[in-house]
Amino acid sequence: MRDARLFKRPRRQTRPVMVGAVKVGGDAPISVQSMTTTKTHDVDGTLAQVYALAAAGADLVRITCNTVEAAQGLAEIVPRSPVPIIADIHFQYRLALAALESGVCGLRLNPGNIRRPSHIKEVARAAREKQVPIRVGVNAGSLDKDILNRHGDATPEALLESALLEIKYLEEVGFYDIKISVKHSHVPTMIESYRLLSEEVDYPLHLGVTEAGPPPGGLIKSVAGIATLLMEGIGDTIRFSLTADPVIEAESGRRLLEYLDLRERRSLDLIACPSCGRAEVDVIEVAQVAQEALESENLPIQVAVMGCVVNGPGEARSADLGIAAGRGRGHLFIKGKVVRVVPESQMVEALVEEGRRLVEEGVDARLAAADGTAAAQAEADRRQLLEIRPDANSAEQRRQQVAVVAQGKRL
Ligand code: SF4
Repeated sequence: MRDARLFKRPRRQTRPVMVGAVKVGGDAPISVQSMTTTKTHDVDGTLAQVYALAAAGADLVRITCNTVEAAQGLAEIVPRSPVPIIADIHFQYRLALAALESGVCGLRLNPGNIRRPSHIKEVARAAREKQVPIRVGVNAGSLDKDILNRHGDATPEALLESALLEIKYLEEVGFYDIKISVKHSHVPTMIESYRLLSEEVDYPLHLGVTEAGPPPGGLIKSVAGIATLLMEGIGDTIRFSLTADPVIEAESGRRLLEYLDLRERRSLDLIACPSCGRAEVDVIEVAQVAQEALESENLPIQVAVMGCVVNGPGEARSADLGIAAGRGRGHLFIKGKVVRVVPESQMVEALVEEGRRLVEEGVDARLAAADGTAAAQAEADRRQLLEIRPDANSAEQRRQQVAVVAQGKRL
């Protein structure tokens, strides 16, 4: 398989900022963010969610700071958090100052909601003293009214103008620890907004489709917007804004980066054929059972579940491990090479066992331990199945079938 880096545009160069111990931008790995949904003054409940988000893959967690009690809650949450905490601020600039006092590692300001330049600059001065970065979080739904009126709608140009105006205020007081987002719920507008922004600034960009909604639509919109930009080399940190348990946001963000080869694999990647008339098992059911069993083992490998041994091992040869069904048996393969044949009823069990050993011992050791007769057994099963149902991929066989059908006969 070709190196996936060949397919991506080079990553856009940005000046990094530090959010606590997490570097965002520059050559840092793309980071994953999520946001708690608890009341911030509920310190234990919020911390429990922060831990769950960190375990699911969040490198940074944002928490709302909408009241004095919330700011006080942050003072207790920040020192006990496993990841840097960012305070989300709307409307009241004094709560940004209070959040800084609580020890947060980052602020998010919404330019549409904190309007006075003097207030923005006061927050920037305080943040500069504490070396805390600020995200300029422009959101289509809360765009400054003047800008909205001038552009007639929340266009990419309007979002860009709002971001650049806010950045100007920050830079005027010598503040440069900036990240920026220009989120929109309409995916093409979101993509174009970030493209425009990336041409204007070298600050790190936080990607997201705002108000994406519940899964599956919310997930699809988020992936469409975020992945498109990441493949263009745009984006330094991401957030899926889903109407769902935020753990799903963190997990999805992390998985997206793994699937794009932008972060090291730490979770299972189960691939499976879509099934077809040639399938020898119920692929959907076997894939679901295998996914649950393998996920409970926390195996960071790519595993394939294929419905038939005729095409399975070959089609999934890039997978670390896989299984293909045929003639009442499961054919276990590693990197496309069949290493063991087991009864169909033991397919999933054997797959999990082999996955565990593959992670512990490595590919070479497991290939060396292969059952010497497995490949021949698999080939015999494959041939038998081909005799029953000729390979539909073969051009010559297709020609023969076409001729038979044309003559009005049935196979
Ligand atoms: S692997 Fe076999 S069952 Fe699955 S889609 Fe391909 S031909 Fe059909």
